Amino acid sequence: MSYDADVVILGAGFAGLHAARCLSMEHPERRTAPRAAAASSTTTSSSSSFAPVRCVVVDACGEPGGRVRVERDVAPWDVNSGPEFIHGDENSVLKRFIDACGFATREREWPDRYYLGLEDALLSADDAEETNADVREVHRLFDELPDVPGGDANDVTALEWLTSSVRASERVISLAENIYANDFCASLGKLGMHEVIEEKKRWVYGEKYLVLDRPLREVALELARGVDVRTNWDIASVDYSQPDRVVVTRKGSNDKIVAKKCVVALPITALRSRNRANSVKFIPRLPEAKINAAETIQMGNAAKVFIGFREIVWPDDLFDVVCTDCFLPEFWITTYPKSSHPRQAKNAEEAQAIADTKGLVTFFVAGDLANKISKMKESDVIAKAIEQLDRIFKTSCKERVTTTKIVNWANERLTQGAYTHPSVHAGNSRTLLAASVSNTLFFAGEATHTGVNPCLQGAMETGERAAHQTRAALFGVGSSKL
Ligand SMILES: Cc1cc2nc3c(=O)[nH]c(=O)nc-3n(C[C@H](O)[C@H](O)[C@H](O)COP(=O)(O)OP(=O)(O)OC[C@H]3O[C@@H](n4cnc5c(N)ncnc54)[C@H](O)[C@@H]3O)c2cc1C
Repeated sequence: MSYDADVVILGAGFAGLHAARCLSMEHPERRTAPRAAAASSTTTSSSSSFAPVRCVVVDACGEPGGRVRVERDVAPWDVNSGPEFIHGDENSVLKRFIDACGFATREREWPDRYYLGLEDALLSADDAEETNADVREVHRLFDELPDVPGGDANDVTALEWLTSSVRASERVISLAENIYANDFCASLGKLGMHEVIEEKKRWVYGEKYLVLDRPLREVALELARGVDVRTNWDIASVDYSQPDRVVVTRKGSNDKIVAKKCVVALPITALRSRNRANSVKFIPRLPEAKINAAETIQMGNAAKVFIGFREIVWPDDLFDVVCTDCFLPEFWITTYPKSSHPRQAKNAEEAQAIADTKGLVTFFVAGDLANKISKMKESDVIAKAIEQLDRIFKTSCKERVTTTKIVNWANERLTQGAYTHPSVHAGNSRTLLAASVSNTLFFAGEATHTGVNPCLQGAMETGERAAHQTRAALFGVGSSKL
């Protein structure tokens, strides 16, 4: 089947969905748009000059949201397998949208506790900073990052910076690994200092750490409201060889979408020509500069290790614990309202275990350690994680555990990692990733954020940028960058 649209958007993550809203709705940040996707690109309102554009979004997944996904076999509520937190509430398109939806958020301190393995001490963040000079030092170092040390050729990894320039102690380096590198989704040895510094300079969202009152999937569903999203639509090829005509074909079928312009909002791994598991064929081939940029910017890996409990063994106010000298670097405790969706249990025993779950520990591990645990036996990872909790909570956890699960993002075919991290010798790669091609292909997605923001609001900002560029091209303004 062939379908015509003004714009075809590849990928229904937060970038692609927000691009579609910006193109087709006058008020994309409202929960329900008063004038959703109109039938003609030339339709204009009598009261404003906004011209809605007919968009169709395609995605290989079964529902929109991209990396925003839930697990239904761990707890009575839907558990976020991807993103969970809202980073900052200033200048945030995501926060404005959440507010417009009427969803509530709760501010939390991050981290609110440290578990110092060597001292065997679980401390509040304030106590840890007051009593431990290494904790103070690591925060000082990352708060007072140096200016860019020379050009891109002089870029160094965070590990090189800490060892050679700062001459930090082993303990400070280990804290930096678990507090900062883990959050950046890489190990210190892979973090590029230029982009770390750029990210800090360009961060305009404030420092609040917010938890939504429901799983983030519900925000994804609201973003998709009024947008024409075609799910289970695995893209085979994107032919943009003719001006103002893009033909996108679907794997394993004769379906195609023919549009004037195309927004590519796929994870950068899908742009890599050597990616056999998920490669989208562009006709003609994408410019070499863009392909090289997609290789230079690194997709970090992360895994979440979930452990459900029938009985709460931690202090009521405990939220997020950064652990040092331990197996896994960080965990947090979150619960959400019980879900009305059926649980995905294989048998009655599993269903009972899910129903019995009262609390959930989510370990978050990124970088080399995430890769390492993906090679370990799952039962060994779980056993070591539970032992770590035994030490921290000073009780035997094993008999209180109901459910366990590991989600390792390296195994997700469509993303092959969690999110991009500040990459060494990145140069202007993100600008190249963001640049349009032939005034026909426009690019969005967290990796294309030139402020190195791999968060949800960063992805949405890139969607908005691509929508503006597409609109300019459709209506005769703007030109190609590559
Ligand atoms: C474990 C984890 C924790 C995170 N924590 C946070 C957090 O707490 N806060 C935060 O703000 N951000 C967090 N992030 C980052 C956040 O998830 C991303 O910034 C955001 O989801 C990226 O959106 P996107 O639209 O750029 O990409 P995606 O969401 O990946 O969307 C791209 C879409 O393209 C589709 N696609 C890929 N290949 C094809 C193909 N061949 N055919 C058709 N469709 C295809 C995919 O199915 C996907 O839906 C986290 C991410 C992970 C994985």
